[in-house]
This record gives sequence, C-alpha cells and structure tokens, in this order.
Amino acid sequence: MPERIDIKSMNLSELIAFMEEMGEKAFRAKQIYQWIHEKQVDSFDEMTNISKKLIESLKEKTYLTSLVKEEVQISKLDGTRKYLFLLEDGNVIESVLMRYKHGNSVCISSQVGCRMGCRFCASTLDGLVRGLTAGEMLDQIYKIGKDIGERISNVVVMGTGEPLDNYDNLLKFIELLTDEHGINISQRNLTVSTCGIVPRMRELADENLAITLALSLHASNQSKRLELMPVANKYDIKEVVDACKYYFEQTGRRITFEYSLVGGVNDTDEDAKELIQLIKGINCHVNLIPVNPIKERDYVQSNAKVIENFKNKLEKGGINATVRREMGRDIDGACGQLRKRYKDTKDNL
Ligand code: SAH
Repeated sequence: MPERIDIKSMNLSELIAFMEEMGEKAFRAKQIYQWIHEKQVDSFDEMTNISKKLIESLKEKTYLTSLVKEEVQISKLDGTRKYLFLLEDGNVIESVLMRYKHGNSVCISSQVGCRMGCRFCASTLDGLVRGLTAGEMLDQIYKIGKDIGERISNVVVMGTGEPLDNYDNLLKFIELLTDEHGINISQRNLTVSTCGIVPRMRELADENLAITLALSLHASNQSKRLELMPVANKYDIKEVVDACKYYFEQTGRRITFEYSLVGGVNDTDEDAKELIQLIKGINCHVNLIPVNPIKERDYVQSNAKVIENFKNKLEKGGINATVRREMGRDIDGACGQLRKRYKDTKDNL
C-alpha cells in the first residue's frame, strides 16, 4: 500500500494540486484547508460539507495529524500549562502555554528529542528520535488553543529540539502558521530559537521573513561555550555572532540572545565584561535565564544577587537585558523534563 500523505502539512496550493489530481475542483481544496487550519477539526468526519465519498478517499490517501493530550500540568502560581502530547507513532512531546498580559504564548517542540547535546538541557539526554512534521508543530498550537478556548497570539519555537536541524519542516510550519487563511499568527509574533547552526541561520536570514531569531549564547567566549554546548565544536562563537549580525542586516529584526546563568560557570563580572565586548553594537536584547537544574547534571542556579548584578553590568555597558521570569516553577521545570520523567516512568514499568 502506498504511504498516505500528510495532509495537515500541505499548503493551499499543494492541496489544490492534490485535489485536482483526484478529479476534484479547487474550491473543495479550499473547504478542506479551512476545516483543517481555520476550524481545526480533529478528524475528516467533522468536515460536514464534504461528501462521504470524498472523505473516504481522503482517508485512504492521506492522514490528518491529530495529537492526543496525554497529560497537562497547571501551575498554581501563574497559570502556565505544560502539555504532554502523544504522536501517532507513540512518541511523546511537550508544549507549554504561558499566559501574559499581552496574550497567550505557546512554546512548541520542533523535534522528538535532540542531538545537540547542550550540557544543562534535559531534552537532549536520550538523543534525537526524529524531526516533527509541520503538521505536528502546528497541532500543538491548535490543540492548546482549543483546550483553553482562547486565541493564541504568540508562538516560540523553544521547546525540545533544534528547529534549524529540521529546517524544511520548520519553514513549512511558518508558512502555514502565518497564513491568513489559517490560524493567521503574525510573523512578528513568532520567535525561533537556535543553538547556533551558522549556515542555517544565514539561510533563514535570506528567507525574507519578519520572525525573531533567538540565539542560545550562554557564554561570552569560545572555550566556555564549548564546555556547555558541543555545537561550538562546529561553529566558533565569532561565526555565530556574525551570523546574528547578518540576520539583523537582512531582516531588520532585533536579535534576542539567550544566556542561561549557571552558578560559578558563566556568571562572573569578567563574563559580563566579555559579553558586552562580544555583542556591543548589535541591535539586540539579552534574556538572562536562571539555569533550571536537572538531576542528571550538577549545574546550579546563580543566586539572585549575582543575577541582578550581571544584568546591571550589561545595562551599564549599554546592552538591553532582562531576567526571564520563571514561568511554572511549581511544575516540572526545565525544557524536556516532563517528557523525560514520563518516558523514564514508562520505561521502568
Ligand atoms: N535548540 C534550540 C531551542 C530549544 S532550547 C536552542 O538551543 O535554542 C530553548 C532554550 O532553553 C535554549 O536557550 C536552551 O539553551 C535553554 N535551556 C535548555 N535547558 C535549560 C535549562 N535546564 N535551564 C535553562 N535554560 C535551558
């Protein structure tokens, strides 16, 4: 039997071409697209203006990705929700809803697991399983929007996985997410976070998009970065920063630098000084993230005073900086921890 086609990852023109191949008219494709991306149905059977016959052939030739909510943790502190979703192939991924005054923001995963190996990150401990399809990335947002019955206004690709290691699917996802005939989220309200895959950052800069690029920097020089992030073996810190400059030149979008503060590792006055030298002159913003300790590693958070001091040093050096509010502190903290705990429990049964 030929493999079924992933209909949720098709854009409208692909769907029109596909329907025409099936001997159907273009307007049918538009109706189906609307069911999938505007009304966000979970199954073909909900498409009430499509004939039974066509629904049967769609089921035969295609599949409609639909994630299953396996677990939700709700923070009592700030309403943050962490979702664990089950994929069709039995893998699980996590996504997070953060509620801000300016709207609802969803943090999605881009891969099942990750192969980047950042030392402080739980998502990478068991390696990479596979990249997510565009439809699987989208459905995290659709399902969360439906679950809370509210509009999602912002999306950050900062969950498990390296989005630029799943580049083609990421681009397709962006196209569908920002399509006015779908969920219609503005490119300006989308942030993609990368550990710094230089050629892909440059490629993304050339795509003519208005999305924000966040770069996980986490150190102010090459040798310290190498201690925390194996990807630095491949791309030197200077090359990565240059790619950020290029991104700004091409897109006019201010760069976000993420800097996870790890106690005694990258949080000294010297680190702050070096960081200022490294990025000064770039139109950017530094997001300081108190590292979220994971049990598999012995990294600790910098204390509150050290964090405040680090931020003040940056600001005095002319660099915009904020300390990221830790959302959902009371529910499985760091990136990838919920999935990891779930997986470990299942594996031990
Ligand atoms: N692969 C991408 C996106 C996923 S990680 C990237 O590297 O940017 C999202 C952000 O969370 C990154 O900045 C990552 O370094 C950070 N992060 C991961 N685990 C963390 C932890 N335990 N504490 C603090 N930040 C963490």
